[in-house]
Amino acid sequence: MISRKTFLRVSGFSMLAVAGKKVIAALSGGVQNAAPPAVTRWAMVVDPRKCSHAAQGCVKCVSACHAAHNVPSFHDPRHEVKWIWKEPFARAFPSQANRYTEAVVRDTPVMVFCNHCENPPCVRVCPTKATWKREDGVVMMDWHRCIGCRYCVAACPYGSRSFNWVDPRPRIPQLDADFPTRTKGVVEKCNLCEERLAKGRLPACVEACPEKALVFGNVNDSGSEVRRLLSSRYSIRRKPELGTDPQVFYIL
Ligand code: SF4
Repeated sequence: MISRKTFLRVSGFSMLAVAGKKVIAALSGGVQNAAPPAVTRWAMVVDPRKCSHAAQGCVKCVSACHAAHNVPSFHDPRHEVKWIWKEPFARAFPSQANRYTEAVVRDTPVMVFCNHCENPPCVRVCPTKATWKREDGVVMMDWHRCIGCRYCVAACPYGSRSFNWVDPRPRIPQLDADFPTRTKGVVEKCNLCEERLAKGRLPACVEACPEKALVFGNVNDSGSEVRRLLSSRYSIRRKPELGTDPQVFYIL
């Protein structure tokens, strides 16, 4: 019969041997050869030509987004809250438009929203960490942590953040009980429909567009539709010279 002392000595040696094997495997490259896990990076591709209906007043993407997220509707532009909206091409791309830009592009309002920047200045300036970037690129907001300092509003060079100057709740056209509402003194913006992504669904704006002018997907997946479009068409981004690395692309 094996004594307790002998058992502990033998099992201790065994554990050391197993740990030693792991260290040797790692040093000899066994672990290094394992393929790194693919990291998802969400991105959006907008085709302004397909979105030419916006010039005729199509706002289905805006309506779907704002309804899904309880975005209030204010007639007074000083109180306006917006997650996705139309912007004239020259305003959206001030350094890219010129007098010879093709009329269909120049005259078509383009849909703009948070660019879910790879290098978001809004995140850097937030003193309470109420906004942050997830590993998959979604720039998030925690409305409970927002103290309304509006540093992020000032830091975003795209006007993608709105501040609730008054209580937004009475101005929500049709309340969706499945999504939280905000309060006076809080900043909000597009969340890339992270609540839908969590259920494997597409963003509401993408689903609502009758022209399929918005394409959403994993830009790190070489077989995705966003990658196919970006590798076959010329694309531009809003104010790329600022170094924010926007992840919303516009194909021309
Ligand atoms: Fe932040 Fe503006 Fe970039 Fe969105 S578009 S991540 S709000 S800097």
